Amino acid sequence: MTLAHSLAARIAADGPMRLDAWMAACNSAYYGGEDPLGRDFTTAPEISQMFGEMIGGWIGDLWLRAEKPPLHIAELGPGHGSLMADALRLLGRLPGFMGSAGLHMVETSLALRSIQRARLAGWAAQWHDRVDQLPDDRPLVIIANEFFDALPIRQRRSGKELHVDFAEGLFMPKWLPAAGADAEWSEAAHAIMGHLAGRIAAQGGALLIIDYGYGGQVIESVPLDTLQAVHRGEMVSPFYDPGAHDLTAHVDFSALAAVAHGRGLAIHGPVAQGALLGDLGIAARAEALKLGKPPHEAGSITAALLRLTAPQQMGAIFRAMAVTAPGWPVPAGFGMAASGDSGA
Ligand code: SAH
Repeated sequence: MTLAHSLAARIAADGPMRLDAWMAACNSAYYGGEDPLGRDFTTAPEISQMFGEMIGGWIGDLWLRAEKPPLHIAELGPGHGSLMADALRLLGRLPGFMGSAGLHMVETSLALRSIQRARLAGWAAQWHDRVDQLPDDRPLVIIANEFFDALPIRQRRSGKELHVDFAEGLFMPKWLPAAGADAEWSEAAHAIMGHLAGRIAAQGGALLIIDYGYGGQVIESVPLDTLQAVHRGEMVSPFYDPGAHDLTAHVDFSALAAVAHGRGLAIHGPVAQGALLGDLGIAARAEALKLGKPPHEAGSITAALLRLTAPQQMGAIFRAMAVTAPGWPVPAGFGMAASGDSGA
């Protein structure tokens, strides 16, 4: 039975599905399918090795300034494993680091797990289904790039909540009465953030979130509908052909910051991705990679640099926020940003 058939049967039996249940079912099928990344959209770690290398530098610098504690590195939703492979190439050269670091991937898709395993061959990594399975014996330094945007959301407007109905062969939006203020929010994101913030408060460490989203900057109003589906680079209806494309929503950084603040963590940023990568030295890395390369290869390194950092490309839409345990150093790239933003 295809996903569309089973969702139609579920709606026929139980009535319209709430948006978060729909989004969870669609994304689980999408990411569980055959190599879903790179076909419909690309991500920063796939654009250039420089992205993962900068994140590796960020982790290594934090570890050095935290006085080199044994720790666990974790990545949430590692996709093809490119970010971590590029980060580890750098961290592997940092004396004393790898000997004292565990490596953990949180990934639900079995298809992507096998791609990650191949990409990280030679590194002793462990895979987990959920964040609560991460080890609790050392500080955790956790990376989440384009992870939170894939978590299920809910939407409420004018006293009604968004559901998905099935009629005459089509899935369609259906608003059902529900009390409460107008909002778009993700219970899954809040729960994961709450768990990780509690762990970081107890164990030490940090979490770096990079994603497109809002919060911490001046905006006219909080968005109420950022749900989107992208199929081969084109926007399509989130209710069309379930499981054939991923469903995402903008990350509400203020809401995540508030959760972490409530657990006593320090909040850094959010800052623009371009500013973070610039601070971490991506321009110098690009120059080093271009040395001795033929002009067309040097040109594609410059193009990748611009794609990751230019404000009109990924540099400004994507934002980075870090949270750290009490007593941990302010992470690289966030020195100029107001730290301790309550996220209110
Ligand atoms: N970070 C990667 C991939 C982003 S796509 C990159 O930047 O290229 C989102 C990733 O999160 C995929 O690996 C997907 O399988 C994973 N994912 C989505 N929902 C998840 C969940 N609830 N738990 C664990 N992993 C999840």
